[in-house]
Amino acid sequence: MKKLMAANWKMYKTAADAEKTARELVEATDNLPEDREVMVFPPFTAIAGVVEAFAGNENFIVGGQNCYPADEGAFTGEISPRMLLDLGCRSVLTGHSERRHILGESDEFVGKKTAFALRSGLHTVLCIGETLEEREAGALTDVLSRQLKAGLAELDNGVNQEMFSVAYEPVWAIGTGKTAGPPEILEAHGIVRNILSDLLPKTGKNIRILYGGSVKPANIGEIITLDNVEGVLVGGASLQADSFSQIVLG
Ligand code: PGA
Repeated sequence: MKKLMAANWKMYKTAADAEKTARELVEATDNLPEDREVMVFPPFTAIAGVVEAFAGNENFIVGGQNCYPADEGAFTGEISPRMLLDLGCRSVLTGHSERRHILGESDEFVGKKTAFALRSGLHTVLCIGETLEEREAGALTDVLSRQLKAGLAELDNGVNQEMFSVAYEPVWAIGTGKTAGPPEILEAHGIVRNILSDLLPKTGKNIRILYGGSVKPANIGEIITLDNVEGVLVGGASLQADSFSQIVLG
């Protein structure tokens, strides 16, 4: 399966700036290797222009950073998977740590969104990861297991391995400049792989596990070659086409 090189643009960029960066990115990666796939998660207001910039490029996918688990309804401020599909999105993030920790999303709610997004036909990237406190308390396996179980709880028929990925993002490494080192990434991705194989006996071995947390051009080389690392989810270093293209090709 292709390595998934994903950009999370969070609450950055106007629509015009996002489209410009997306066009620069396509240009800077016109020699995209066969085994790479690019996914960009712009803010909702910038999705249309990025879809336009990626038109005709099968290997460039646009996604929403969040969604609500319903097709439509009285949910002020929310966006449904159906609306994302309508704009040309093919994927969505669920459970990003900023939504869990700043906006108070529970494991159960993330599970509802994940199942609903998958059923709607979006490639869903479920984000999980421990805080520094949890890591120091020796709770790494427990936290990953709890978040994965809850994230997959509402799926009755397993998942299509092409349509579901997990992003392991230790909260202490997001936006802090602190990257988990290869031993920490190997350990956590091994744990995630084991839990996925238990929870999803048919597909768990093949589901892509992305690493996220201060990934940059300088460390992509050592991260992307690690066992059980089938992609990355990049925040800060994905905002400029120049640095994200180096990561995509790295
Ligand atoms: P970062 O963010 O690369 O800026 O650490 C990663 C993420 O939040 O997905």
